[in-house]
Amino acid sequence: LRDDESIDLREHIRGIPDFPKPGILFYDISTLLRHGPAWSAAMARLGRAIRPHRPDLLAGIESRGFLIAAPLALELGLGFIMLRKRGKLPGETVGLDYALEYGTDRIEMQADAVEPGQRVVLLDDLLATGGTMAAGVRLLRQAGAVVPAVAALIELTFLEGRARLDVPCETLLRYD
Ligand code: AMP
Repeated sequence: LRDDESIDLREHIRGIPDFPKPGILFYDISTLLRHGPAWSAAMARLGRAIRPHRPDLLAGIESRGFLIAAPLALELGLGFIMLRKRGKLPGETVGLDYALEYGTDRIEMQADAVEPGQRVVLLDDLLATGGTMAAGVRLLRQAGAVVPAVAALIELTFLEGRARLDVPCETLLRYD
């Protein structure tokens, strides 16, 4: 993947106020994805951050995590697995319920997706409170994986999401 060093990724991410509800500043990666050289640079940079963790596989969290993990897996020559919302995956699955601000959510993966001891790096577009990423790590471990690190394009540092994680977290852009 090409990494044009003159590209400032911050210029390709926009903050949309009050989405999906009042008071939330939503970091929209659509503008990054629709700019070929910027998307490529972002993936190349994240790939360099992940490589030292020596993953065997990459996992992405539905749905924007797929847009990060799948191209990175191709870049690193690795396979890719999906962590999805309830009821989306065929065959035998393992799942985990986790708490949200209001209520709970559930993520699932295919029970045979990883071999015991395989190193899986988990990716999402953005780390906020860290609840989603922490649940993903727990689920991957439940399925037999070793999780050497997680990664995201964007980190909202004021929410201290990385404090909820017991693995290193690689992020490219930090906002506070
Ligand atoms: P959390 O579990 O709080 O770390 O939330 C992370 C998940 O919610 C990620 O999958 C993000 O895509 C999404 N998310 C949370 N906050 C934002 C935000 N301000 N802008 C865009 N996406 C967000």
